[in-house]
Amino acid sequence: MKIVDLRGKLPVHKTKRYAQRLLSAIRSLAIHHSLTLTGSAEAFARYHVTTNNWAGIGYTYVIGQDGTVYQCMDWTQVGAHVGNSNKHALGICLVGDFRTQKPTAAQYQAAINLVWYLQSRIPSAKDIKGHSEYPGYASKACPVIDMAKFRADVAAPVAVAPQYPAARVLVNAKAVANGLLIDNRAFAPLRAAGEAAGAVVGWDNKTKTASINGKPVYGQLIDGVSYVALRAVADALGGTASWDGSSKTASIKVA
Ligand SMILES: [Zn+2]
Repeated sequence: MKIVDLRGKLPVHKTKRYAQRLLSAIRSLAIHHSLTLTGSAEAFARYHVTTNNWAGIGYTYVIGQDGTVYQCMDWTQVGAHVGNSNKHALGICLVGDFRTQKPTAAQYQAAINLVWYLQSRIPSAKDIKGHSEYPGYASKACPVIDMAKFRADVAAPVAVAPQYPAARVLVNAKAVANGLLIDNRAFAPLRAAGEAAGAVVGWDNKTKTASINGKPVYGQLIDGVSYVALRAVADALGGTASWDGSSKTASIKVA
């Protein structure tokens, strides 16, 4: 996911400023479309400031049709996109008019990746809702895309090696890079899982052995990436491992 930081670079109101909030006040991620066939964070910011007389652009993120993600303000800034729910919502706007267009594949995947990224860093942002799912906006044609499908797509793991079933991997409740299942055992990318667990990882290419804090653990090299059995990581670090079959999620908790 390519993120371009536009904070401090977009048009803002001469005097008005958005209120601040605690990160823990954010309960949901709000998905919008721009209702314009084309557009950009700059264009939306100019419109929101000069026509709507707002403090700045209403959304925290804009996702272009090429899948580029633009961050427009801090997470702790209360934007303007869902009325009374603004304080508890973080706005994500996909460029396009989805009454007549569809999000591009790159844009849709970027939205999923952005939700993953945000939910792993803002634990209180549990809900993913379309604009029209907020109180008072049932009649709003935004974002028009099937939000139930979007939420299912967010929950589904992304295949990393097509020859194996994909699995989501959580380390201490934080999502890390996708893993896979080999013989019903969950494997995670060694480096990502180790770093998320705060451990020192190693890989001996001669013996094809992974290590966690110096202890050898069972690993496999798949498409040039070293994977490690997630339960072995938990064991090596004195933690616990669990598996949720419905969401295909392997979790470990380590101290
Ligand atoms: Zn909207």
